[in-house]
Amino acid sequence: MKILHLLCIYVALLVLTSAIKDEFTAIERQQIQIETPGLFEHSDAFTIDFAAYRTSDYSFPLPVGKAKVVDGSEMEITTEKGDAVKAMFDGTVRLARHVAGHGNAIVLRHDNGLETVYERNAENMVKAGDRVKAGQTIAIVGGEKGRWALTFYVMVNGGKINPEIIVMPKSHRLTRRTLMFKKKGFAVETTVVGADKKTKEQDLAVFYPLPGAKVISPYGRRGGRSHTGVDIKTRPNDNILAAFDGVVTMSQQYAAYGNLIKIRHERGLETWYSHNSKNLVSVGDRVKAGQVIALTGQTGRASTAHLHFELRLNGAAQNPSLLFDHVAHKVKEDVYENFLKTGKLRKK
Ligand SMILES: [Zn+2]
Repeated sequence: MKILHLLCIYVALLVLTSAIKDEFTAIERQQIQIETPGLFEHSDAFTIDFAAYRTSDYSFPLPVGKAKVVDGSEMEITTEKGDAVKAMFDGTVRLARHVAGHGNAIVLRHDNGLETVYERNAENMVKAGDRVKAGQTIAIVGGEKGRWALTFYVMVNGGKINPEIIVMPKSHRLTRRTLMFKKKGFAVETTVVGADKKTKEQDLAVFYPLPGAKVISPYGRRGGRSHTGVDIKTRPNDNILAAFDGVVTMSQQYAAYGNLIKIRHERGLETWYSHNSKNLVSVGDRVKAGQVIALTGQTGRASTAHLHFELRLNGAAQNPSLLFDHVAHKVKEDVYENFLKTGKLRKK
């Protein structure tokens, strides 16, 4: 009796999953640029408020890649071999196949009405009908002759729109706007209806790594040795935050550093967090600025529980005070903005 009951549930689930898989027609699963059924059924316009998006609602397709907009309609994002391509928003895979002239392509239909396209992948990791979350790995970046790049674009009702209306190619952040998409015959007109709502700091997404901390030992020469970071202290097992978005490149015990985390950011910037009592992230994890990555501790060579924080640029230790205000516990926004533009921490 019980087994029969379970079997019924199993059959019902099978029917349900196949129904979801059949959500897209054969043509929708074949053709990249195609109208979205029902998108303008109830109204000739819809809006999306990107200012309301939380960090978990959005991911840049290649978080450590370098993006440039081509012809006002596509983004070319270059990165390293083997890098993972991420879904921009929550949605459903409409197409995942090889398309002549596009390579291995993926089209995601998002719950917000947009579609995003990811082309020239070495390997697609999802199939048509799959539900995906923002930030989920959907493909491995493709390329040849040492050049690894993704062709990315955004569509509304099958037509490409300028990706810069939605995402800033330099900072990888969403524009904090409300956009209106209005059907005009076969075309869709995109207009900005709301001003940018977030503060500059939120827009830049930068965080002081240990809020409320006091400097107990500055960067630079100390006795005969040079101190490659700054020591800041609050209390044991306090939350350590990622200063910027990035990818974890090390999370382990490492000699005098004790438990060490290294995070790689944009433009050759790197941050190190050491003496942690516990590391909460692993190598390969994509972290968001402000995310708790570890707890303060006294592992390695440390006389008290504190955070030894390093700022590195192309491998070389920099004075964290160039970018961080240890009194206000803030990132120096103007310096960081200038860095994103120029790749330099010092203004000339
Ligand atoms: Zn130190």
